Amino acid sequence: MTRVTVLAGGVGGARFTRGLLQYLASEDARDAANSPFGGAEGALSGTSAEEQASEVTVIVNTGDDMWLDGLRICPDLDTVMYTLGGGISEEQGWGRAEESRRTSAEIAAYGRGWSWFTLGDLDLATHIVRTDLLKNGATLSAATEFLCRRWQPGARLLPMSDQFVETHVRLAADADEHRAGDLIHFEEWWVRYRATVPVTEFVQVGLADAVAAPGVLEAIRDADVVILPPSNPVVSVGTILAIPGIRDALRATSARVVGISPIIAGSAVRGMADACLSTIGVETSALAVGLHYGSRQGDGVLDAWLVDETDAAAVPALEAAGIRSAAVPLWMTDVAATAQIAAEALRSEVATR
Ligand code: GDP
Ligand code: CA
Repeated sequence: MTRVTVLAGGVGGARFTRGLLQYLASEDARDAANSPFGGAEGALSGTSAEEQASEVTVIVNTGDDMWLDGLRICPDLDTVMYTLGGGISEEQGWGRAEESRRTSAEIAAYGRGWSWFTLGDLDLATHIVRTDLLKNGATLSAATEFLCRRWQPGARLLPMSDQFVETHVRLAADADEHRAGDLIHFEEWWVRYRATVPVTEFVQVGLADAVAAPGVLEAIRDADVVILPPSNPVVSVGTILAIPGIRDALRATSARVVGISPIIAGSAVRGMADACLSTIGVETSALAVGLHYGSRQGDGVLDAWLVDETDAAAVPALEAAGIRSAAVPLWMTDVAATAQIAAEALRSEVATR
């Protein structure tokens, strides 16, 4: 049994975790078959599969969360929950499969809502249930646990914080009704402007009053391996690391901390992560992002960093900086390929300090 804790954003974090769960399930099945308590005898001796099963905790970025039409929207939590629970739209990578948009159209007919952000009808049910729980006093952790009872994601999903921390961007130029210098919600910059309007900084509104959600620091402390999956290093993993205590927990844990590059051959693969990296002055390359996270031997958070095979030239520089590194295929083309990435991340040569 292995205890793995993942610090995830939305699509990249969710897809990686789905592959990780598949890999761990195959490992657990193999261990059970090989164990003296496994197989039929295991059932007789009372050693349940549960006791042998690996445990995965996903600490999810909630910096993209926002209020919309009176509802609390948690894009990354929902992407992880739907992906692991089998409800995701595979084509989009987010939102529900077989979705319709009649309610959004009706809201637009009232001149309400945000024209650039559509909420699907099935997805809206999740937001309504979550908002109802929150309005009745539940924490975001408790609401998430409740929603997961239906989706059975096969991993424990924890919001990074129960306090509302929202990522905003400061505009460097005028855009529609916004003026240069204004702060707008990250999702508006990302979805409405496709990250094309230049910004000067990311601001985590509410951070001063935030603490890590219950179980978050313990999940980092008690893990065998902590994984930074191929999620956006700035607005997904970076936001999680900004929550007081989380970075210190990563630096203090006896677990190995292994990261997987979201950048392949100088490109962000999917999405506009390069616009986030350039805003904080980090080059869009597997090497630069690995060095940005840094080695735990210095003041960083990584023991190891996987780069794609096309970025093999970065390995010596990473090793010289005190970060174990290996170059392996990092395209999450399907679940089997992603399970292979997870296997590489857990391989002892990479993961052992
Ligand atoms: P978001 O919240 O939906 O933007 O998702 P994440 O922050 O979890 O992940 C987004 C990042 O995943 C993108 O910026 C890409 O860099 C990365 N990504 C997406 N697909 C792949 C892939 O197939 N392989 C790798 N290595 N990275 C990927
Ligand atoms: Ca996100």
